[in-house]
Amino acid sequence: MSLNFESSLSPKCTAMRSLIIKQGHLNSLIMAVYRDKKAGLRRGEVKTHLIDCDACLAWLGHEVEPPILRRAKGATLCCCLEMYMAIEESAPETQVVGGLSEPVQFSLWRGEDPIWTIGARRTNIYYCPWCGARLPSEPFPRIDEANS
Ligand SMILES: [Zn+2]
Ligand SMILES: [Zn+2]
Repeated sequence: MSLNFESSLSPKCTAMRSLIIKQGHLNSLIMAVYRDKKAGLRRGEVKTHLIDCDACLAWLGHEVEPPILRRAKGATLCCCLEMYMAIEESAPETQVVGGLSEPVQFSLWRGEDPIWTIGARRTNIYYCPWCGARLPSEPFPRIDEANS
């Protein structure tokens, strides 16, 4: 982990990055920043600075492992981080970062009716079990698609 200060860095950015390193928990911080950014929330001096300052957010993105950054960004494409994790961990081709969610899957019943299921028994769900959002009639976009 490096402070990696550019010479042109403003005193505010320098102070923020020092504070972030001192506080630690970068993985949960970056998840929270992307979540608040999506929700339009302004909570806490550090998170607010990261939402407003592209340079510091990019710096933080380099301080965490690539799968963590992908997860933080990917969660903004879903209704919530928990749903993103459940979908990511359910996809057979996806590298599992960690954690163990109930698998959530999207499918088309008879090739035309959108169905969301949860768990090994594939119980139908219509609302997100974590945030309560109504589930869409198509799969959430994937981060690899959103990046391209
Ligand atoms: Zn900054
Ligand atoms: Zn949700």
